[in-house]
Amino acid sequence: MARIVIIEDEPDLALGLRDNLEFEQHTVAHGATGEEGLRLVAAEPTDLVLLDIMLPDIDGFEICRRLRAAGHTMPIVILSARGQEIDKVRGPELGADDYVTKPFSLRELLARVHAALRRSTQSAKAARTQFMVDDRQVDLVRQVVITPQGELPLGYYESEILRMLHEHLGQAVARTDMLLRIWGVGVGPADRTVDNHIVSLRRKLEPDPQKPRHILTAHAVGYKLVL
Ligand code: CA
Repeated sequence: MARIVIIEDEPDLALGLRDNLEFEQHTVAHGATGEEGLRLVAAEPTDLVLLDIMLPDIDGFEICRRLRAAGHTMPIVILSARGQEIDKVRGPELGADDYVTKPFSLRELLARVHAALRRSTQSAKAARTQFMVDDRQVDLVRQVVITPQGELPLGYYESEILRMLHEHLGQAVARTDMLLRIWGVGVGPADRTVDNHIVSLRRKLEPDPQKPRHILTAHAVGYKLVL
């Protein structure tokens, strides 16, 4: 279920969209002006924006541009009046994902919304399982590190440690938390299991494993990943 912000100044249209999306269990917020819409998107994590072009204050293209400039990556589906053919060219340039011409059938619009949400979930999943560490690509699905020299296999525990570190990028993850989640055990402070796997991971990922720059030791706690 997604949080969807509708930025649309036609009340009937907005209400119809809202009812249908809520019926599908989505959380919907509606702004009738550009300013209000921008505020709603900034207020809470948003999965998709339905954006009208002709609004009373800021036009939809400018909103699109501002959202992308602010670093928002959620799909934006533009709703535009018939005849605004130029929009089809400008929309993608400004970072819109899809474009629906009014009047549209609700069914068509909902299908586009589903498709956009599906694409963005897939790319978010891919970003969680594939990431770069300098010039090396980690692929946690295939359990390999792809280096300019070739592929290095990752063991199961190495992959799981990396996954956990990547989920908490830049933050220290405690050894004890790793042991509990990955091995399912609580172990005493003398346990070297995690440290041994870290040594091996550093050999595969660090240009100089003796002076790690990515898999860092968090003193007395555990480790953190920095990209
Ligand atoms: Ca309008």
